[in-house]
Amino acid sequence: MSAEEKLAKTLIDAGGKALFFTGAGASTESGVPDFRGPQGLWKRIPPEVFDIDLFYRDPEYSWRIYAEYVYSQISRASPNRAHIVIAELESLGLVEAVITQNIDKLHQKAGSKKVIELHGTYDKVQCLRCGFHGDIKDFIEDFIREKRVPRCPKCGRILKPAVVYFGEPLPSEELSSAFSLAKSSKLIIVVGSSLSVYPAALIPEIALDHGAKLFIINESPTHLDKDAELVVREKAGTFLEKVSNAVEEMMKSSKQKDESLW
Ligand SMILES: [Zn+2]
Repeated sequence: MSAEEKLAKTLIDAGGKALFFTGAGASTESGVPDFRGPQGLWKRIPPEVFDIDLFYRDPEYSWRIYAEYVYSQISRASPNRAHIVIAELESLGLVEAVITQNIDKLHQKAGSKKVIELHGTYDKVQCLRCGFHGDIKDFIEDFIREKRVPRCPKCGRILKPAVVYFGEPLPSEELSSAFSLAKSSKLIIVVGSSLSVYPAALIPEIALDHGAKLFIINESPTHLDKDAELVVREKAGTFLEKVSNAVEEMMKSSKQKDESLW
């Protein structure tokens, strides 16, 4: 059995209790830079773009580099084959949720419905005092034009992009629903994550501890490779495309078998 057939069969056998866990590598084929990766375009950007201390010290500079390097690049990106196949598998009832470390909304743009964003999202703002949330586009144009740091329309405090910066905790609701999904899953498929950022990387570990099978599609080694049913080093989009074809074949042939029984 080929690697793609093995994953396709495990996906079908999981009966909908399968999770995708995605990281930056899932989006590099969409031109979204991997700011922790070795070949990331993010080498060119100020490393402090997601630094929470800088944000408090110099919000105008922090907003400026966010607008220039994060918002402008990510808002132009489109989903790639990996995002599209994951969304198709969800629509077939084979995927319970996508848990992502990415902030780029590309899973939703590809059509995924249940997406848990562990590190926030690039297109929203939040108020750290009163909890206000809003669309970033209502604020960022003004900022770009007038260089005035966005302020909360409710309480007046400086707004922050709703992305988890280094030194900030992960959103607790998202984290706890990811943990509980991991505990009840039968299969977790890691795509494009080196599993080095905690606590996000706990999620595949929890799934494994609760008996789920693990598949890893990542171009570089991870510390969980030894526990995986299968490790694939191919590009995620290319490999998932083959998985999608294998799933289709298997579903077609099982349907034909069912029909011949009747
Ligand atoms: Zn506020």
